[in-house]
Amino acid sequence: MQISIWEKESFYAPKDVIIVGSGLVGLWCAWHLKKKDPKISIAIIDRGIIPTGASTRNAGFACFGSVTELVEDASRFGEDNMLQLVEMRYKGLQRIRKVFKEPAIDFELCGGYELFPPNHTRQRSELEHETERLNKLLHDITGKKRTFKDASKKINELGLHHVDYLIENKLEGYLHSGKLCQALLQEVQGMGVTVLNAIEISGFEKVDDNVVLYTNQLIHLKAKQILICTNAFARQLLPDLNIVPARGQVLVTSPIDDLPLKGTFHYDAGYYYFRNLGNRVLLGGARNKAFEEEETTELEITEKIQQELEHFLSTHILPGYKYQITDRWSGIMGMGNEKLPIVKEVSSGVFCAVRMSGMGVALSPVIGEQVSKMLT
Ligand SMILES: Cc1cc2nc3c(=O)[nH]c(=O)nc-3n(C[C@H](O)[C@H](O)[C@H](O)COP(=O)(O)OP(=O)(O)OC[C@H]3O[C@@H](n4cnc5c(N)ncnc54)[C@H](O)[C@@H]3O)c2cc1C
Repeated sequence: MQISIWEKESFYAPKDVIIVGSGLVGLWCAWHLKKKDPKISIAIIDRGIIPTGASTRNAGFACFGSVTELVEDASRFGEDNMLQLVEMRYKGLQRIRKVFKEPAIDFELCGGYELFPPNHTRQRSELEHETERLNKLLHDITGKKRTFKDASKKINELGLHHVDYLIENKLEGYLHSGKLCQALLQEVQGMGVTVLNAIEISGFEKVDDNVVLYTNQLIHLKAKQILICTNAFARQLLPDLNIVPARGQVLVTSPIDDLPLKGTFHYDAGYYYFRNLGNRVLLGGARNKAFEEEETTELEITEKIQQELEHFLSTHILPGYKYQITDRWSGIMGMGNEKLPIVKEVSSGVFCAVRMSGMGVALSPVIGEQVSKMLT
């Protein structure tokens, strides 16, 4: 098949910026670039028929970190980095709520919780001390005296089992990840961004003042600047980046009459996460039960992890209930030896915004803003 002159001069015409990857990061980058300069020409390319990374396959938590996650982040990456990430995530959530009407993306400020079983390794006094310390540190970011507070009295009300202690964060919520991506996609297309699907970028090269992108199709594309937003898959194009793929598996139950569960829930330093989806339960995680096997970009589910999730479901969330598992899937996160995303110019005219460390829903609007300041 040959390319017509019409195709060459419209869909495939050279652009100011080509973004590789139409997940939340690529889309928010396009949104901010267009807001800053409506005349800039942008194309977003994705190899999937729809965005097929983590953005449409996650749990839809609009969160900025549980107590144990933030304590661990501070000890591993330093307190400043931990606070920087919380601030980015918090601001990102505010941006989402500013741009989109809450019902359009099923956003609800339902409250987030972290739960602890009776035999948890941390003493309750230690957790209380850490909560208090974090509340002081986060005060400037959230404006709340007590971002986190003991909500153990709600354990029965929420129908949780084998749980001894519960910490609540009323500033967290959930949303519909598919509706958010779709709404953002429609928004950027309305701003004049060209979106091309089912094209895989296999490489790129700087030629004179442009960057040429090679694809798995007959065409190659050309832009003054390119921005790689392929998160967990970024090493395919940028092999030197410190990014490790981490698969996350999820399941969803059939509807359950009078489901008491309401909110987003984190357990075991965030390795398990669950929420209600109307009167169904969405549960994901257990990656820590098979770290090596889950260090993959294969979008598969495994019996081992799915069984572990089902066991968790019947122990902590739905013992005694009748339900079926109606949906199962996986998505790939981009992790690394640091938790801050990689947002930089890799070489002349080539930029990247990748490694969202499993926090991209909240981070992506702020990353988009950073990128729009970097690209000119
Ligand atoms: C199971 C699971 C649960 C999660 N839960 C949450 C949550 O509740 N809250 C939260 O904040 N975060 C969550 N995350 C993380 C969050 O979804 C990600 O951080 C975020 O979606 C990353 O967005 P992105 O745009 O950087 O990458 P992605 O959404 O992965 O997008 C990358 C895109 O690049 C495309 N691509 C890759 N290579 C190429 C190529 N060579 N050419 C063209 N296109 C290419 C892919 O098709 C894909 O669409 C979760 C992730 C998973 C997997």
